[in-house]
Amino acid sequence: MTEASSLDDYALDGNAIGGLLIALFGTEMTTAVATCGSCGAVRQVAELPVYMPGLGIVVRCRSCQSVLMVFTGVRQVTCVDLMGLASLG
Ligand SMILES: [Zn+2]
Repeated sequence: MTEASSLDDYALDGNAIGGLLIALFGTEMTTAVATCGSCGAVRQVAELPVYMPGLGIVVRCRSCQSVLMVFTGVRQVTCVDLMGLASLG
């Protein structure tokens, strides 16, 4: 479904979007704990792999690679999709 080998080239971590998350949520989110909705893995946001394929920002689960968060339209109004998360906080 995705080309894992090419995605690896774009891998950052949650710290890379710390400023964006503060802008969106109004608080420091890199230390928040994200629970994967697919496999139940629990990680700090700062530890999650972040990809910037060009259309937006994709945050994946480090354990199962499921998409946890998607941020699109970063330049003006940012649309946030947290559908892959069981919980965040
Ligand atoms: Zn997972």
